[in-house]
Amino acid sequence: MSLRVARVETRADARGRRFELLRVVDDRRGLRAYLAIEEDARGRTAFGGIRRRPYTDEESARREAVALASGMALKLRFAELDAVGAKTVVLDHPEASRADVYEALADFVGGLEGRYVCGPDVGTGEDDLDRMRSRTRHVNDVANRPGLATARGVAAALEAALAFADAARPGRLHVQGLGSVGGSLARILADGGHRISGEDPDAEAREALAAALGDAWCGESDVGARVFLPCALGGTIDAARRERWRGSVICGSANDQLAPGIGPDDLAAAEILWVPDFAANAGAVIEGVLAARGRQAGLPAALAAIGPRVSDVLEEARRRGMTPWAVAASRAEDRP
Ligand code: NAD
Repeated sequence: MSLRVARVETRADARGRRFELLRVVDDRRGLRAYLAIEEDARGRTAFGGIRRRPYTDEESARREAVALASGMALKLRFAELDAVGAKTVVLDHPEASRADVYEALADFVGGLEGRYVCGPDVGTGEDDLDRMRSRTRHVNDVANRPGLATARGVAAALEAALAFADAARPGRLHVQGLGSVGGSLARILADGGHRISGEDPDAEAREALAAALGDAWCGESDVGARVFLPCALGGTIDAARRERWRGSVICGSANDQLAPGIGPDDLAAAEILWVPDFAANAGAVIEGVLAARGRQAGLPAALAAIGPRVSDVLEEARRRGMTPWAVAASRAEDRP
């Protein structure tokens, strides 16, 4: 057996939650990875996707694993799911065969005997997960199109934000990133009667969406849109965006949407209503947890419940003079 697993250390996140870091190596099959998994005296199952990308060094991979697992812990608690957070990061390198790497990873996940259920993240697609499913059952078994559950959850969060902002007819909505989530979200919103603009460096994605949306498609510029829906990578709400885009509501699926130097307080001061990312983008993990528990039938109601949860946060934030981020994070932190 060429698979080796070593417990490297335990690290705490900024909120004091503790994560065990496991280093996973399989020299024969080219796997180098870390799993950060939340410690839990109650033995609850940990959920979190697999991110695969090149890392400059092992420490940056370890840091990212813990930061992403910490974000999962917050998201799971805010969504009131009785589960804990985890994340795998795979250090991609040119000699690795993708098929071998995911097979080795499947053997590792299988060896944890259900303590951890994995799923997709950047660099890991349905084909990779299918390969893993042939070797272990501890992989999210989701029936929906990739990104669809997340898009439905973001749509529910947006509806709550628009009602709160008293913007039943909000004008044009601008979607950044027209991939799995952004593409589905744009279709859902257009079906709901909204006009949509969108940006993506991938011309094919833009053209396919424009064709699908027909008259609802309003081009590629965010200028003049009231709502910005970040569904690409993190850190895209930066000074340049704020200078150009003068809308008042932000609600999207990307994790860690704010660029360094911009905080929730800055958006509040600019009278921008920002729905915290971990509150809006929990659809996929909700789907994964329900599927693991054989409760798929509850998915539509669980996704719809994101809306009232966001409304509550926005109301409380207004009442207490806090940012929605602070209220949502403290609600999540109050859960064990
Ligand atoms: P995806 O890879 O399918 O789509 C991302 C799209 O963004 C691609 O079309 C890409 O070309 C585009 N893009 C990249 N850089 C861009 C930029 N600077 N401006 C505009 N577009 C850009 O990914 P996805 O699964 O749709 O996920 C989107 C985001 O939502 C990611 O940040 C992801 O971490 C987050 N998220 C996704 C899920 C899910 O269910 N897929 C769940 C939670 C969070």
